[in-house]
Parts: sequence; structure tokens; C-alpha cells
Amino acid sequence: MSASTHQSTVPFNITSFADDVAGAVGQVLDSGWVTTGPQTAAFEKDFAAYLGAAHVVAVASCTTALELCLRALDLPPGSPVLTPSLTFCGAVNAILHAGLRPVLADIDADTLVPSPATVAAAAARVRPAAMVVQNQGGYPVDVAALTEAAGLDRTKVVEDAAHGPGAARGGAPVGSSSFAACFSFYATKNMPIGEGGAIATSDDGLADRVRAMRLHGMSKDSWRRYLPGGSWRYDVRTVGLKANMTDIQAGIGRAQLTALPEWQRRRGELVARYDELLLGAPGLVLPQRELAGVQHAWHLYQVRVPDRDAIIAELEAAGVSTSVHFIPASHMTAYQEILGAEECGSVPVTDRVAEELLSLPLYPGLAPGDQDRVAAALVEALRARG
Ligand SMILES: *Cc1c(COP(=O)(O)O)cnc(C)c1O
Repeated sequence: MSASTHQSTVPFNITSFADDVAGAVGQVLDSGWVTTGPQTAAFEKDFAAYLGAAHVVAVASCTTALELCLRALDLPPGSPVLTPSLTFCGAVNAILHAGLRPVLADIDADTLVPSPATVAAAAARVRPAAMVVQNQGGYPVDVAALTEAAGLDRTKVVEDAAHGPGAARGGAPVGSSSFAACFSFYATKNMPIGEGGAIATSDDGLADRVRAMRLHGMSKDSWRRYLPGGSWRYDVRTVGLKANMTDIQAGIGRAQLTALPEWQRRRGELVARYDELLLGAPGLVLPQRELAGVQHAWHLYQVRVPDRDAIIAELEAAGVSTSVHFIPASHMTAYQEILGAEECGSVPVTDRVAEELLSLPLYPGLAPGDQDRVAAALVEALRARG
């Protein structure tokens, strides 16, 4: 690779920040209260309004959100929990840290998520006590259909909505009427804070439980104890985690949330542009098209290509950074050791499709010229292979 042949590398992701983020942080610092407090409460209200959810509980990350919700189900230790193998390792760790046992579900090759058929097949192998479903790339899964296929009640289904902000099914935003939907505000996600997460729930009891469990299980957080008239006294009724969101994060989040609709609009434009630029490239499978009644959040633009690893290297040499979502859990050493070869060998479509997946740069700040370079480099790599 010669550096002189191209100006710079197109990064896989650039985090967008709303205009007033620095001012929002300054206000929190000036207020004298920087950890969980009034900004966190206001962010929860704002995000609940954005989703149309009854309750939002802000936490440290999506990973801790998943663990908190799974712990709040009070299942016997070692209970089986269905999860896609094609998911982020943190979501599998959350099941294990909650003392539960992952059971792998295969995917449908078009949507890249488990279908009712693959969920039913996994549930026939091992009867699940709960299930984690995931909105891969921003595709809103049909939670009700998957819940029925698993033979579960909706109060046993936790949604990994890390890719969910901006997605809707039948006009209902992901998380708007969920038993438990877990969001991520990690730096690369559609609603980036840097780090952070949230649980959206329609269930009053779950909201109360995870609200206490995010801060050690204490019945009152320190902001409320220090308010005028607040008492020093608190109880611990459930052993919780240290998984609270700070007011600094919440202040950033409130500013970011005002820009999110515009960022989502821009993602949609970029996706339409990729579709045009890439149409007809030999061997290329474009991402799942929008289905009737489905609003895709386009967190990722995931294509499928032959000879994927070599193409990634060629794109990098041409100054285009890409990524892969995800290396399946069943291919990771730790989960192979814990789950065993038979369990990890139970997802053949995942094994096949995972070797072809390629995520192209997609973010609101992606310049059209850079997007042209991404598409041209990919088309060239594919044409060279006929
Ligand atoms: C990013 C991600 C997570 C973890 O989010 P954090 O906020 O970093 O904990 C979980 N699941 C999926 C699918 C993700 O992409």
C-alpha cells in the first residue's frame, strides 16, 4: 500500500456530536452535582418521550442493562436463555454474569436475526426459561412472533436494542411497549454519548427493581438522600450492581437526543445512496430491504461478499476501513469451553453467513465523496473476482 495513492483513510465510524454538547457538559459541571441526579432523571424523561415508553431507567451500558433485566427475572441459577449466536459478546457475557446459561439460536440469512422457525428449533432442543432478542443492524425484530415461537411469556423476553433507536415496527418504536428493551449509547451507536445505556419498560415492577439494582440495590440514591428533607437512611432489598449513569453522560445525552432525528434522516439518505452505487456488483448481497410496516434504524450497512477476509484487506489498502458484525459467539474460545462443541455446532446458517458479512462505513458525518470511495473500492474488489 502506498500512502501517496490516496489522501486519507475513510474511517469506519466518526461519532457525531450535537452543537450544544460542550455547553451541556459545562452546565452539569457548574451545577456542582456530577453523578446520578437531576440530569439523569431529565434524560430518562426525554428518552422515554422519544420512544413513547412508560419508563426509562438510565444505566452505565447496554451490557449492564441486559444483566440487570436478566437478574430481575429471578430465574433459578443455570436456567437456559435463548440468544442469537450472531451477537455482540457483551450480550452473551450478560447472560453468564446473571448466572444463566446461553442457548444458541440460528439466524435467517436475509434478516440476520433468528426467525420464529429457528427460535422454535432451538427451543425444541432446550426448553428456554427466557430469551434475549436483538435488532441486528437496526432491523426491528417481531418480538411477539419470536416470543410465541419460544413458548415464552412476554415477561421472560429481554430485547437487546443496542441498534434500536430509530427503528419501529407497525409504527411502534423499538422499546415503546417492551417488557424490557436495553439500549446502548456507546460511541459508535446511533445515539452516542460515549458510554451509557438505558432500560425501557412498560412494567412498573421491573422499572422499580432495575432502578434500585443499578445502584447496589439501595432504596434511595445519594442525590435523593442529600435533597433538602432527605434522610440518610436506606435499605438494600436486592443485591444490585454498580451500573448507574452519571449526570455528565445524561447532559450529553439530552443534547444528543435533539439531533438524533436529523442523524436518522441522514442515515436513510446514505443507505439509499449505497444501494444505488453498489447495485449489480458481482457476488454482492445488499442488506435486507425495508419490509412493509418496518422502519429500519440503519445502525449498520451490512453486505455479504465472497472471499470476505481478502476483500477487507484490499479495502484497507485502498484507504477504506470496514468492520464485521459479528464474529458469532459460537466461534469464541470462552463460549466454546462453557457451552461445548455440540451447542456451538448447532447454528449452521450463522456459521455460513458470518464468513460473508461486511459492514461498510455508515454515519451521519460520512461525506458523499468518501462514500463514493468506499463503493468504488468494493465494486473494484468484486469485479476483479468476476
Ligand atoms: C454495542 C452492543 C452491545 C453493548 O453495548 P454497551 O453499551 O457497549 O454495553 C450489546 N449488544 C449489541 C448488539 C451491541 O452492538
